[in-house]
Amino acid sequence: MSRKVTIVMYHYVRDLEHSRFPAIKGLSVERFCRQLDYIQAHYTPIAAENLIRALSPAKEGLPTNPILLTFDDGYSDHFANVFPLLDARGIQGCFFPPAQSVLEHKVLDVNKIQFILAAVSDLGSLVDQVFSSLSEFCTEYPLKTKEAYFLAIAEQHRYDSRNVTVLKRLLQRELPEPVRAEIVRRLFAEHVTADESSFARELYMSVDQIACLRRHGMHIGSHANTHAWLDHLSPDAQVIEVDQSLEFLKTLGIGRDEWTMCYPYGGFNNSLLQVLRGRQCQLGFTVEARIADLDVDDPLTLPRVDTNDLPS
Ligand SMILES: [Zn+2]
Repeated sequence: MSRKVTIVMYHYVRDLEHSRFPAIKGLSVERFCRQLDYIQAHYTPIAAENLIRALSPAKEGLPTNPILLTFDDGYSDHFANVFPLLDARGIQGCFFPPAQSVLEHKVLDVNKIQFILAAVSDLGSLVDQVFSSLSEFCTEYPLKTKEAYFLAIAEQHRYDSRNVTVLKRLLQRELPEPVRAEIVRRLFAEHVTADESSFARELYMSVDQIACLRRHGMHIGSHANTHAWLDHLSPDAQVIEVDQSLEFLKTLGIGRDEWTMCYPYGGFNNSLLQVLRGRQCQLGFTVEARIADLDVDDPLTLPRVDTNDLPS
């Protein structure tokens, strides 16, 4: 009986070359279609419910080469491009929209950073712009020197260039939260758009679209409320993030006995796992890139491979 499950992670799936931001990193619809052909030829797509039952004490069996497809961040791409293709092929997708982006039309900082990087051609001068703007925050916040930040960001990311790695790490993590939020807000307004709300409505699915996915058998799970690094939050703040996302799932008719969690940036820790266990979370998806082994892996810390790890 198969206890190894390939769980694939997708983000953007869009016609990049015909979009306003062709430099955004994502999968084209054409490549997504080819990947679905490959998946159907070599794997058996399963639903989240199959995985939940396979991990239950009854250890319900799974088909040969099971695969589960997951889609992070609630992009409208998923409704317009992914959903019709999955629906036509009878494949279930698991979708993880952060509650706040859908309900309050706020663009996640992680997405603002992606669109800033896609809109600016000279990333070297963008790095300089970020470092020169730090001087105005240095009396209020304990900032490091440029050299110290570069040293802290020594490692190379699997898919990104050096400038992109430095910008993402500085703006997503290294700088104090209020400083990076303000710098990202300014760069987004300058290089992308001053109308964040309209941009958010284009970028993310609406509540009605997510409800439609669910009616058609797709799985909807939690991706937290604000897409925070949950492992960097206090236990109290973790509870707030989780409960706000559960309220959102409740409005979609998703009960507390059937919910799943996809950790923003893959970030989790023991206190978060306790919060999730206390709320009967069934599955937790990380970004650890390997095939899941149901005999070994904790249901709340399942690894996922990236779409780039599969042929397309
Ligand atoms: Zn995410």
